[in-house]
Order: sequence, then C-alpha cells, then structure tokens
Amino acid sequence: FSLLQRTDPDIADVVLGELARQRAGLQLIASENFTSPAVLAVLGSTLSNKYAEGYPGRRYYGGCAQVDRAEEIGLRRARELFGAEHANLQPHSGASANLAAYAALLVPGDTVLAMSLPHGGHLTHGSRVNFSGRWFGTVAYGVREKDETIDYDQVRDLALRHRPKMLICGATAYPRLVDFALFREIADEVGAYLVVDAAHFIGLVAGGAVPSPVPYADVVTCTTHKVLRGPRGGMILCREELAERIDKAVFPFCQGGPLMHAVAAKAVALREAAQPAFASYARQVVANAQALAAGLEAEGMRAVSGGTDTHLALLDLRGLGVSGRDAETRCERAGITLNKNAIPFDPAKPMIASGIRVGTPAVTTQGMTEGDMKEIATLVGRAVRDTDGSAARDIAAVVADLVATHPAYPER
Ligand code: PLP
Repeated sequence: FSLLQRTDPDIADVVLGELARQRAGLQLIASENFTSPAVLAVLGSTLSNKYAEGYPGRRYYGGCAQVDRAEEIGLRRARELFGAEHANLQPHSGASANLAAYAALLVPGDTVLAMSLPHGGHLTHGSRVNFSGRWFGTVAYGVREKDETIDYDQVRDLALRHRPKMLICGATAYPRLVDFALFREIADEVGAYLVVDAAHFIGLVAGGAVPSPVPYADVVTCTTHKVLRGPRGGMILCREELAERIDKAVFPFCQGGPLMHAVAAKAVALREAAQPAFASYARQVVANAQALAAGLEAEGMRAVSGGTDTHLALLDLRGLGVSGRDAETRCERAGITLNKNAIPFDPAKPMIASGIRVGTPAVTTQGMTEGDMKEIATLVGRAVRDTDGSAARDIAAVVADLVATHPAYPER
C-alpha cells in the first residue's frame, strides 16, 4: 500500500477513505459483503495482467498454464459445491451472466416470462431500459396483493397464454423462498427453459441455508459478491447438455478476455464457502435477517410478506409517514447504509419509494448475532424518525461503538 501512496496519493486516499467508511458504519445493503483478505489478495495480483481468451486447455493466447490451473480449480470447486454438471466462472458480473443465458437459449424477439421489476425482479429480467426488455418480448409476473408472495397461478396463466421460451425466477428484492419445483413444472408445461437467477441467494445455497435451484433449473446464473462473499463478478451453472452453448455465449459472444484475477478470486471464495464455518455463517445470516425484520416491525415498519426466509427484508414505511428516499438519507447521516426500495404495489415513484431494503450478509461477516440485530433495528428506527437530523450524531456514536466491537477488516 505504501507503494500506491507514493505512486498515486489521490487514489490511495480514496482506498483508505472507503476502508474507513466500511469500518465506521453499519453496512445493511443486502447485496454487499466484506470479502476476505485472501480474495482481496488475489484480486490485486499479477493474474490481472494475463490475457486468456478461451477456456482452460483451449486458449487463444500462450502462457496460460498458471491461469488454466486457477480456472480449473475454480470450476471443479463450483461443480462440487453446488452439485452442478457444468460451471462457467468468466461472466464479469451478474448482468453479464444473464446476458449470456439469454444469448445461449434465445434469439432476439423470443418471449421471456420473468418477475416484474417493481415487485422485486432485476433490470435484466425484462426492463425496457435493459437489453432484456429492448431485444426480447418480456411478460412480467408479480406477487399477490394479499400476502406479497409470488402469484404462482398468475405465473402459470401467463405461461400458458404467452408460451415463453424462457421462464426466469429469482429476484433482487424478494425476501421469501422461491418454489423452484413449481417453476420447473410450469416451464415443462409450456416447453420453456427455466433460468434461476440466484444472484442474491447463491451464498445461502452454498451454506445449505436455503434449497438449491440446481436440480430444477436448466441454467442458474448468479453473482459471486453477495452472500457468497467472493469478488465482484458472475457465475453460471448448468446441465452438461447446455455447457457448450453457455460457454460460447459467455466467450466469444458476450465477452472477450476473462478477468483471470477475478476468476482465481472466485476459486478462493468457493473454497471458503465449502468450509463448515460458511454453513454456520449462512444460517446466521438468515437468523439475523429474521431478527432484524422483527426488530424493525417493533419500530413501526411493516415487513413485506410478513418477514423473511433469506438474507434480506423489505420494510414498508408508510405507517411512519416517511418515504424510502428520506429514510435512506436519514440513515446515511447516522452512519447506517441501506437503500430505499419500491414495495409491491407501491404508490410512490421508484426514486422516492415507500420502503427500504435491509440485508445481513455484511454485519454477519462481522460476527454480529440476533442481539445486535435488535440494537441495529432500534438505531434504524431512531434514524428514520429523525426528521431534522438532530439525533444523527448520537446515533452515529452508538453505531461506531457497535461496529468497533465487531470490526470489519480488523487491524492486525
Ligand atoms: N440478478 C439479480 C437478481 C441481482 O440482484 C443483480 C444485482 O443486484 C444482478 C442480477 C446483476 O448483478 P451485477 O450487478 O453484478 O451485474
């Protein structure tokens, strides 16, 4: 690091500033985590220098012996950890993994049935501002108003009516388990591929805290940086019969040279996720999310769908008369980072939103447990109600004490 400080003090200052920010506050963004120093070490390694278009043993560049080893190790670990027939570790991100899945299975104009964005789906599930909505005919299913869980009858009706070539499940802001078996059944009824976008919960699958989509899906796409706690990036798992199509869709169709430092860092994360300690971690992430959701309900917020089975909860703030946007700003000034989020059937515009989304991957990595979640819920409640900012400094001081007892990246 001292080398960076000498070469580029401006960027060194940013790196230190971000480390200080991550250490000083409460990180409740459901899609974020603190990856391990081992993963960070590989990300900052000379593997970043290497061009390796292609796949192990079939590269378009020389000198790939070492990166081939890294990718083979990573692929073996991914297949073993998830019981998958085939894996691809090259997608640069979750969105790239989804683009590759579309490219492997569809041609432009084909119809896709996926969860609507306002009900928790992702941009790559058919939004008009994304390739998925621009190049494909997308139809959206949602949740039922009465219990805010996926309306499987609607999924089946829409599937029968529109005969999609691909059915996507898995979301960005859905706190409940997804019934993969039922999605498989519906996909089979209409002859559609089933793609499970497990970006958010693949880490919980790795730790055995939620059921695996792998036995049901034709293709599983995911990110590697959320609960899974690896480097920022994507991954695809699929059946052997789709292996070649998926690999060719990632490279050369969607991407050029893989980021070999990221591929190797994914291998490290997969090794970490295969340890018994990771299973305890994944279970604790869910227990913490449930405790946090209950605590926030006690603060006057309403947990969408009545709670959570996963690492995240969605809270409706209308009972407090505070918008998601204001809640996010008020929490931020008190040292708590979370995001505003639309709730199903939200009357507010997306940039204002009636809810917030909270997640426990990062605080659980810090070693916090249910008792800490109770305290965090109280702090979030105080911050959300702090209209004029007068309590922000006091709340931030309690936050600082709490994170000091569970430091992220402790100083050695
Ligand atoms: N799919 C889902 C369900 C997501 O929640 C996300 C990101 O939050 C993505 C895909 C995209 O991942 P990335 O941001 O790495 O492109």
